[in-house]
Amino acid sequence: MKTLRLILSDQLSSQHSWFQQVRSDVVYALIEIPPETNAIKHHVQKLLATFAAMRAFAAQLREAGHRVEYVAIDDVRNQQQLDTNLTWLISKYQATHLGYPLPDNYQLDVQLRAFCQQHSIAAEATDTEHFYTTRHELQQFFEGKKQLVMETFYRYMRRKHQILLEKDGKPVGGQWNFDQENRKKWKGEVDIPATFPLQNDCREIKKALDQANIPYIGTVDAQAVQWPITSVQALHLLRHFLETSLAYFGTYQDAMTIQSWYLFHSRISFALNVKLITPQEVIKTTINYWQEHQNVVSIAQVEGFVRQILGWREFMRGVYWAYMPDYAAKNYFGHTRSLPQYYWTGNTKMRCMQHAITQSLSQAYAHHIQRLMVTGNFALLAGIHPDAVDAWYLGIYIDALQWVEITNTRGMSQFADGGIVATKPYISSANYIHRMSDYCSDCYYDPKQRHGDRACPFNSLYWHFFVRHRDLLQRNRRVSMVYHLVDKMPATERKAIMECAAHHLANLEEL
Ligand code: FAD
Ligand code: SF4
Repeated sequence: MKTLRLILSDQLSSQHSWFQQVRSDVVYALIEIPPETNAIKHHVQKLLATFAAMRAFAAQLREAGHRVEYVAIDDVRNQQQLDTNLTWLISKYQATHLGYPLPDNYQLDVQLRAFCQQHSIAAEATDTEHFYTTRHELQQFFEGKKQLVMETFYRYMRRKHQILLEKDGKPVGGQWNFDQENRKKWKGEVDIPATFPLQNDCREIKKALDQANIPYIGTVDAQAVQWPITSVQALHLLRHFLETSLAYFGTYQDAMTIQSWYLFHSRISFALNVKLITPQEVIKTTINYWQEHQNVVSIAQVEGFVRQILGWREFMRGVYWAYMPDYAAKNYFGHTRSLPQYYWTGNTKMRCMQHAITQSLSQAYAHHIQRLMVTGNFALLAGIHPDAVDAWYLGIYIDALQWVEITNTRGMSQFADGGIVATKPYISSANYIHRMSDYCSDCYYDPKQRHGDRACPFNSLYWHFFVRHRDLLQRNRRVSMVYHLVDKMPATERKAIMECAAHHLANLEEL
């Protein structure tokens, strides 16, 4: 009996129990196929970092004595499809069993199960041993409840895993959530730390990508790819974040500036999502660091960071497994417009959009508020089809894998799920962007004007959004007060705003 064990590109965990024992009857297969789907163009940095991490992982396994079959993107045997690649590998090794870690991707899960049935091969699907939660834990936790509430789930997670709790079970610092203290604009009062100097040479992989004609977006210095490709690099990046940024993480979590593409964010998401590092390691290391540095790092900063990983990340995973595959077709507002071209070039007069998009193209990264309150906010206000929005987010970001991309994009950002993830649409006029960033001061548009040639498009589109979706939103208690404002607006002002928005919607490419 021989077992072929497939290691997916986002399952690079050396801590998995599979690797604790060297077995001569097991062959590990790593196959370079562009992540998720070929139909989407991915950022070149994502392709390079993913394949570089896979290659480093294969080398590590070989060094530890495991048998490894590696199929590179330009390997003549690579048929660029998972099924066909698996078929010849099974035949080559005369495998009777196919082992694989439970995929985080719904379609891949279905595909692998179907593959095993069709090929009459015994399947050995094992847990990834990565997340705090099982696939269906969130669903079971909220069984019978009308609304999923992240905060409730997060407190359950804190209690269950004994994280930031006093001996009597109360939250450390006297409250569960310090978000209210964490919403400052960055005005240069604290220096932004230098980037962590990671420079992975991926020139060979880049050459292979080009030879195999793999399409991609974005730019890269292939000689110096900045993303961690091993567990050691991931731990160094985390350490760098703790030493330089944790003390300000929460305070400036929502801030945006043209002076930095990451501010005080960790940039650990890629390493986490391909499992070079575990969420348990990140949280434990962070809390240990805080305990030793309480004179410089407050509980508000640590709690804010832990909440993202223990709360939001696990919450999104649970939503994904509870609502897929239907989730991928949700379009609550019935939006149909195409994504404007400037999402692919950054060529727009809107300074906030121009900055967030060009940065995404050059770094494969934007931090949460840029994704949510700039590019996502605009897409929702402009009525872009959620499929197009999803495709953009899934392609452009270094950390984008469907389980965490779609729940954030279609759910949190586009409210296309009608309120499963968020209780109200995350939209704003220029007011919020002006308050939290330095974008507006240098913009062609005026954040204070609501209509007219130079009025910020976010303003008229914001009011238009509420007016056109009145039937769907008026009864939502979290936004109903907006309708009082709409109704109190002088008729001439309202008409001018609506006309301005209608003009923008008909001419989105011109903004
Ligand atoms: P930090 O701000 O330093 O946060 C630390 C960690 O917390 C992150 O690395 C991440 O693992 C976790 N985290 C924070 N917020 C979330 C969240 N909302 N959901 C899940 N985990 C979270 N995150 C992805 O990992 N992949 C995606 O494809 C993705 N797509 C997004 C799309 C949209 C429209 C939005 C609004 C958010 C998206 N996010 C996604 C969530 C979040 O923006 C990123 O996790 C974060 O920006 C990654 O940068 P960081 O590592 O510096 O995060
Ligand atoms: Fe963005 Fe409007 Fe501010 Fe310009 S004025 S940066 S378009 S919010």
